Amino acid sequence: MRQIQKTFFALGTANTVAVFDQELSAEQITKVLDRIKLQILRFDHMFSVFREDSEIAEINRSAGKNMVKVSRETSEVIKKAVELSKNSQGAFDITSGSLLRLWRKAKRENRLPCLEDMKRAMNLINFRNIVLDGDQVGLSQKGQELDLGGIAKGYAADAAKQILMDEGIAEGFINFGGTVIAFGSPKQIGIQNPFATTGVPAGTLKICNQAVVTSGDYERFFEKDGQRYHHILNPATGFPSNSGLAGVSLTGDLACELDGLSTAVFVMGLESGMKLLNDYHLEGIFMEESGATYVTPGLADKFNMGKKEINNYG
Ligand code: ADP
Ligand code: MG
Repeated sequence: MRQIQKTFFALGTANTVAVFDQELSAEQITKVLDRIKLQILRFDHMFSVFREDSEIAEINRSAGKNMVKVSRETSEVIKKAVELSKNSQGAFDITSGSLLRLWRKAKRENRLPCLEDMKRAMNLINFRNIVLDGDQVGLSQKGQELDLGGIAKGYAADAAKQILMDEGIAEGFINFGGTVIAFGSPKQIGIQNPFATTGVPAGTLKICNQAVVTSGDYERFFEKDGQRYHHILNPATGFPSNSGLAGVSLTGDLACELDGLSTAVFVMGLESGMKLLNDYHLEGIFMEESGATYVTPGLADKFNMGKKEINNYG
């Protein structure tokens, strides 16, 4: 079967779309892949906090002042994020923007943010201050900042899949910086080992027409005085989350939902995270800092770690 793939940089990461098809010509497939790339670059342009002309930057500048007219996609992803914030009791909260910015600066300067600044930034975190009204979005408190880093890749991966489906492509694989969607025949994917270098899997997972989204503390972090500070923050403490988890991978239909939830669950930890997954009827793999691995019942015969022990949860 012919395989054609394309990799491009957007949303702060490398994105790959691979198509396996025997009916369309190489030119036709390449055209579809180009269309996907254009769409994802468009999302980058709308969602990025690093672009002054993005819709999110405009919302942030208008916080406490006025509503901003946005694209259907921006209001859609924000709406989903608000739902996930509610259901995770704020463990996932896209109004963490100013706190995230503080920690990005800390990483660049290799020092911790000062507590005063952290307190100020934490006081600005509250997803209930997001106002959605048709195609208008606003933040009711001055200084508040949205950051879609915890959900944008999932949203984009779903959109890429939709384009492939619309074109009648039956076999494909999408990997947007660790946010994976596989469709067509069953596929095996590697689940990153949080304690090994990038690319070394802890085990393999069999999936069929599903998305798999992973959040972990091992990809993006800095070290200071022997302590590791990673990029997923607990809005309640202002610090990188410290729930005992080193990595969590979730499977389901909607990458957008899984993306927000994997960030939420990573903050919430094993027990409350499992409860949240249960509410959403989703399955997951939890890897603890202690080295223990837990899987939900639906993945028990799909996740394989070789000889290593896997604990069934529940
Ligand atoms: P990755 O982007 O590394 O694949 P995640 O999906 O877990 O992993 O998203 C991490 C990103 O989410 C961070 O870089 C940041 O932009 C954002 N983020 C971090 N903590 C939170 C949080 N508690 N709520 C919402 N977004 C967060
Ligand atoms: Mg996420």
